[in-house]
Amino acid sequence: MASRPAELVRLLLLAGSVAGASPPAAAALRVVATTPDVADMARQIGGDRLDVVTLAEGNQDPHKVPVKPSFVTKLNRADALVVNGLGLEHAFLPPLLEVASNPRVLPTGPAYIDASVYVKPLEVPTSQSRAQGDLHPLGNPHFSLDPVRGKLMAQAIAEGLARVDPQGADAYQAGLARYTALLDEKIAEWAQLAAPLRGVKAVSYHQDLVYLAERYGLELVGTIETKPGVPATPGHLEELIDTMKRDGVALVVREVAYEMPLARTVAERTGAQVVTLATMAGGLPGTSGYVDTLEANLRALVAALQPAPAR
Ligand SMILES: [Zn+2]
Repeated sequence: MASRPAELVRLLLLAGSVAGASPPAAAALRVVATTPDVADMARQIGGDRLDVVTLAEGNQDPHKVPVKPSFVTKLNRADALVVNGLGLEHAFLPPLLEVASNPRVLPTGPAYIDASVYVKPLEVPTSQSRAQGDLHPLGNPHFSLDPVRGKLMAQAIAEGLARVDPQGADAYQAGLARYTALLDEKIAEWAQLAAPLRGVKAVSYHQDLVYLAERYGLELVGTIETKPGVPATPGHLEELIDTMKRDGVALVVREVAYEMPLARTVAERTGAQVVTLATMAGGLPGTSGYVDTLEANLRALVAALQPAPAR
């Protein structure tokens, strides 16, 4: 009997601590994302548990992101770093990490989240093909253009976030489930949308469409660049144009970070259509996230196949 009031007080205190006096919400996890694609995925998965900043902009060449001093500060303060991986950031990230004095976000650190870990890379160089330029030394890093591989990226990001912030593990798991469901819905939709691309022959400026082409049955015939990161030579262009004429290439893809005039010249000489695509989220006007950018790319490709309206 004597213990009853004490018990009541204890229960009231407990109730109070749950309902009213809960501790202040933990500060959001400071996440640096190298590309807008992995930034968007992290936001979709982590919601307001995360404060995400992005280094590259969607319309830039991911191999040549201009470095700003503010990047070092962001990396120095980061609780986690999310990267596309497979060497995509090779040109700008290692030197930044060297001066950022944050061992946690180094590739060997616990807060380095590599979105490529579940992706089986295409075009991994063999010793015989080492002359393929030096931009894709670990294989082709442009897998984010395929939404099925996008799901693998999201999974790696969610697991990485849970590793860095174990208290949020359930939230990240739920966020991943929601995002994966959205991607599954889009993947089914886009299979219909992209059906006209099957068997269509295309040339791109840079060797960055291999995963997209494999997904939608586009046949890649060559690139305007001689090798990834190596500019076109007149001899290479003549050879490419001959091949395009012979094979009936319909599309010249000019990625948004590459110059238009050369793509246009190649298209004009071969009767192909030029189509501008984004290689990172937000790279096309009117887009901002991963999903709307992939959709805009597919719509642009399909639209370029339609005959021009009669005047
Ligand atoms: Zn590349």
